[in-house]
Amino acid sequence: SGEKLAALIASRILDVPDFPKPGIVFKDLMPLFADGAAFTEVIDGIVAHHGRTGFDVVAGIEARGFVIAAAVAYAAGTGVIPVRKAGKLPRATLSATYALEYGEASIEVHADAFTAGQRVLVVDDVLATGGTAEATLGLIERAGGSIAGFSVLLELEFLNARQRLSNRQVHALLKV
Ligand code: AMP
Repeated sequence: SGEKLAALIASRILDVPDFPKPGIVFKDLMPLFADGAAFTEVIDGIVAHHGRTGFDVVAGIEARGFVIAAAVAYAAGTGVIPVRKAGKLPRATLSATYALEYGEASIEVHADAFTAGQRVLVVDDVLATGGTAEATLGLIERAGGSIAGFSVLLELEFLNARQRLSNRQVHALLKV
């Protein structure tokens, strides 16, 4: 059930105070990734939520999103597309720049990553302010993809990402 999955994820997260800077509590999901039974359940939960045939490809947001995306893609028999930080992809890219707490960041996909109308499931580990997600979903659409869903393992509700993503469906397995 959803509640069981949420409890499982909660039990495999470590809170790291003041990382990467003072005042931030970093949510470390490595213990979840490291636990085979828990990881399998969580990945199967994401696939079940969207349905095995509900998406054509999975996009993961660098870097922890890659781990989730690859596993979901394998479970559903689809391919996987990396959404990367600026300057990492070797061929022609489309990019989106978005504001961070301090400064800005850019993400990129290969310009030819998606076929027109391809249904893309987007995954990441943590939804915080939603800036990364907003930029990623828009970027995928600009690249020709159609957003089939967006799943995160953990949503930090106090940061109000849903407000920012009000035109989107957000699937969070655990909300804190
Ligand atoms: P945001 O754009 O603010 O929603 O931040 C989302 C991205 O930053 C995700 O790719 C997360 O992996 C990472 N992130 C933001 N805040 C945290 C946090 N407190 N703990 C772990 N990862 C975080």
